[in-house]
Amino acid sequence: MTRLLAVVFFILMGFLLKGCESGYQEQEDAEWALALHGGAGDIPEDLPEDVRDDYLEALEATLAIGEEILIDGGSAVEAVEYVVRSLEDNPLFNAGRGSVFTREGTHQLDAAIMDGSTLDAGAVTGLTTVKNPVTLARLVMETSDHIFFSGEGAERFADSTDIERVENDWFSTERRHDQWLQFQQKEDSSTQQDNQTGQSGFGTVGAVALDRNGHLASATSTGGMTNKMYGRIGDVPIIGSGTYANSLVAISATGSGEEIMRHVSARTIASYMEFTESSLDEALDFMLDERLEAGDAGFIAVDIHGNISMKMNTESMFRAGGNSVEFRQVAIWEDDEENE
Ligand code: ASP
Repeated sequence: MTRLLAVVFFILMGFLLKGCESGYQEQEDAEWALALHGGAGDIPEDLPEDVRDDYLEALEATLAIGEEILIDGGSAVEAVEYVVRSLEDNPLFNAGRGSVFTREGTHQLDAAIMDGSTLDAGAVTGLTTVKNPVTLARLVMETSDHIFFSGEGAERFADSTDIERVENDWFSTERRHDQWLQFQQKEDSSTQQDNQTGQSGFGTVGAVALDRNGHLASATSTGGMTNKMYGRIGDVPIIGSGTYANSLVAISATGSGEEIMRHVSARTIASYMEFTESSLDEALDFMLDERLEAGDAGFIAVDIHGNISMKMNTESMFRAGGNSVEFRQVAIWEDDEENE
């Protein structure tokens, strides 16, 4: 009898320990998952309805592009590249066409991509003529021996590929030009303050994905901060700050680049999960509540189980996500349940 009780005890312990190993995972694993963002900030709730609808439609349509790639068995790297490309091509967002203006009245673009299954990464900063920076970042990752190219060197690397080029003013839009002029009229203006109000900086784009092979990837692309100084580089192309992926989680950030960099935010989220076995939501909460300050940033993340987390400590973040186990959300403001 005692022996029987001992056997039952060990079997029960075995189940309990197995439960602990799988840690935070409570629901069925998703076969694929995708999340994307179009920037975080304090987007006014009285945004005209037609503008709001344009954003929601763009988020929905872009989500569908990525979902189709993943459903068809495409890789996470391919999904995040194509999602970000599509957002770069959309003038609503601060990436590719529609990028914000620098202090000199030009555009300097940054992007990065990371393959979590290999830890391979590609990043570019200070681009002036490359139509789709994320695609150049992928070419850096896949065809060069290096990870990060800047300015003139990045343009020269682009010359060695057949990537599409444009004149710098191709990235200009009237809306961003007006925002830049308004920004310059403000006394005591600084890029930092502007991003806090969210009025003219937001719109950076990013995507994270899990594919059917269990591989994770992340990509982010931006025009940076309105009125940024010559050569200013934000968090986006810094691997581990604005963009990161490994075999556990993929993260893309948006918000005040200086703050996101200071806390090496994306890698810190991954480390927090790795070392504390916390859930994806808990790791993002830690970063947003315990490290960054209110108004600083937003993150989208996908973990190896296909869980999706999209959180910010700003009032809003253009975001969308979906996975194979029925999670689907397209949203702008914090308690944006009507779009879930
Ligand atoms: N993080 C970007 C940067 O600092 C800007 C943004 O996300 O709005 O360049």
